[in-house]
Amino acid sequence: MFNLNERVIVLTGAGGGIGRATAIALAKQGATLVLTDIDAAAAAETTALADAAHAAGGKAVCIRHDVTSSTDWDDVFATVQSRWSRLDALINNAGIMITVPFLDLTLEQLRRQLEINVVGVFLGAQKAARLMIESVRTQGNKPSIVNLSSVYGQIAGPTHTGYGASKGAVSSLTKGMAVELAPLGIRVNSIHPGPVKTSMLAGAIHELASRGRMASGDKGFAQVAKGHPMGRSAEPEDIAAVIAFLCTDASAFMTGAELRVDGGYTLL
Ligand code: NAP
Repeated sequence: MFNLNERVIVLTGAGGGIGRATAIALAKQGATLVLTDIDAAAAAETTALADAAHAAGGKAVCIRHDVTSSTDWDDVFATVQSRWSRLDALINNAGIMITVPFLDLTLEQLRRQLEINVVGVFLGAQKAARLMIESVRTQGNKPSIVNLSSVYGQIAGPTHTGYGASKGAVSSLTKGMAVELAPLGIRVNSIHPGPVKTSMLAGAIHELASRGRMASGDKGFAQVAKGHPMGRSAEPEDIAAVIAFLCTDASAFMTGAELRVDGGYTLL
C-alpha cells in the first residue's frame, strides 16, 4: 500500500528544502524520479542524494526547469513519455514567498508570486493530467497530483498577503481539478504546511527582523518554534512524509483534500 516501486514521479523545486527531503523519502519507497528545479546544480545534488537513498540503486534523473515556462514543462513530460510511457504522480512543490507588508507590496512582487505559485501549478497539472489520462488507459495506474499550498492559503498572514493570495488560489485550483479529473481516475490534493525549516523560512525571518518585527537568526527560529503547540517548527521531512503518502495507494480515496501539516500552529 505504501510501496512506490516502478512508479514514475515528477517533483518540482527538487533542489530546495522540502523538495530534497521529498525526493529522498520517495526514493526510499522505490520511486523512479524526475527531479526538476530552476537551479540545475541544486537539483543535481538532490538527484545524487536520492540515488544513494534508493532501495534498488539510482533511479532519478534531473532536469533544469522553470515552472512558469510552458515549453520547459513540455520538455519534462516529453522525457517522461519517451522513457517510461507512464506518469504516476506530479508534485507541484516549486514556489517562492515574498515577505512584505501589504502597503509596500508591489504589483511586480504580486505578479511574480502568482506566476510561479499559481501559473506554474496550472501548467504542470494540466499537461500532467493529459499524460496521466493516457497512462490510466494503457497502464491502468492510479495517478495523483499533489500541490504545495500553505497555511497562508487558509488563514491571513501579516506580511504574506500576496503569498497568501497565491496559495489560496492553489487550494481552489486543486478542488476544481479534483472534481473534473476524478472521473478520469486522477486524484488531486493540496498540502498546507506551517513554517518549515528551509531557506524560505530563513528568508522570511531575515526580512521581518530587518523591519524590527521579530528576532533575527536562531532567536527568530526559536520564536517561530514557540508558536507551535508541539514546541517546534516542521522539519522538511515532516512534510515529505505526507507528500509521499498522497502519492501512494494508501490515500486512494482522497481527492480535493486540504491537508494541514503544521504541528497545531494555526490552532492558537
Ligand atoms: P525552498 O527551499 O526555497 O525551495 C523552493 C525551490 O523552488 C528552490 O529550489 C527554488 O529555486 C525553486 N524555484 C523557485 N522558482 C522556481 C521556478 N520558477 N521554477 C522552478 N523552480 C523554482 O522552499 P521550500 O520551503 O522547500 O518550499 C517548497 C514549497 O513549500 C513551496 O511551494 C512553498 O511555498 C511551500 N511552503 C513552504 C513553507 C516553509 O515554511 N518553508 C511553508 C508552507 C508552504 P531557487 O532557490 O533558485 O529560487
